[in-house]
Amino acid sequence: MKKILCAIAMLAIMAPVFAQTVEKTEFTGYVGETTVTKQSTYTPDFRVDGKNAKVRNVILLIGDGMGLAAVNAGMYANGGELTLTNLHTFGFVRTQSDDNFTTDSAASGTAYATGKKTTNGFVGMDPGKNAIPNIPEMLSPLGYACGVVSTDDLNGATPASFFAHQDSRNKTDEIWADLPSACLDFVSAGSTGVFAQRPEATRNAIEKRYNMVGSLNEVDGTASPVMYLPPSVALAERGDYLPATTRKAIEYLSKQSKKGFFLMVEGARIDKEEHSNNTYGFVREMLDFDKAIEEAIRFAEKDGHTLVLISADHETGGVALRGGDPEKGFIRTAFASTGHTAITVPIYAYGPQSKNFQCFLENSDVANKILEILGGKKLKK
Ligand SMILES: [Zn+2]
Repeated sequence: MKKILCAIAMLAIMAPVFAQTVEKTEFTGYVGETTVTKQSTYTPDFRVDGKNAKVRNVILLIGDGMGLAAVNAGMYANGGELTLTNLHTFGFVRTQSDDNFTTDSAASGTAYATGKKTTNGFVGMDPGKNAIPNIPEMLSPLGYACGVVSTDDLNGATPASFFAHQDSRNKTDEIWADLPSACLDFVSAGSTGVFAQRPEATRNAIEKRYNMVGSLNEVDGTASPVMYLPPSVALAERGDYLPATTRKAIEYLSKQSKKGFFLMVEGARIDKEEHSNNTYGFVREMLDFDKAIEEAIRFAEKDGHTLVLISADHETGGVALRGGDPEKGFIRTAFASTGHTAITVPIYAYGPQSKNFQCFLENSDVANKILEILGGKKLKK
């Protein structure tokens, strides 16, 4: 009897720990399904992967909103494989911002770009609104060439984190006005139309600073810095923009510096399609992003001194897999949200020093590790 009383008392004490509210509703909304045509994937040899060899170049690919479920949906819809999931080295990244359990792309982009966590909405600024140096600003004085490629508008939170310092991601004109002082040799994102809407003084300053080209073919032989703004970055209109520009950026940056280069490539629209709970849209964006990843992996395999990192700024949509048939390219999903979620996101690594990322990391750790690998002791902390 005493034992039973003790057990009851224990349960009473522990009850608050287990207290929870469950609202049971039939889940009917936010479901989706799609069938896609299989695209080819690439498996590199792994001779350089995980080796202690010197890293000259780092290519950081950020899938905006690319949680593990987005990777899975893309993988199963593509017959069970992606170039991304052919890689051997991976870890997980915590994405919380300085002020919020659920980050936005500005705070997480800033963490990836600067190694510092900040307030949601801030771009390249700490919570006290002080500008914090980004990777290009730290590596460029050491002789590295730096580039940014994105399927977002150039003022989008992720690309902006690598050149701008503003206390709001919505300060579009101010973000564009930060471009003339950016430490970037290659810049490409959306779009000619968005550029045309900026104030004349900003456009003039950008045109003065950058060699603006109308197509990727014009990039060859153009002096640094170079800017390519395509007419559109929408999936239906941009064709193979992301993989083609990634390939060109790698080619261009490798010629710019003997020291090495840093390139950030963003697959920006996985997130946007997940916000709309559009299964076809985010799976197509995921597959397009995988083609850009392939470009980076093929280069890294040949080069031997390039570290490729693929991760996400946060998960979007609370995507779940409810069913699928990889043989048919069919996937059925559900969404728990139309916003961002706080779950850890995967990070994949390929090349020398990749093992540094085979753990649980903070998003800010990724930048700090990149800086340590490329800059080492030469960087002032
Ligand atoms: Zn988003």
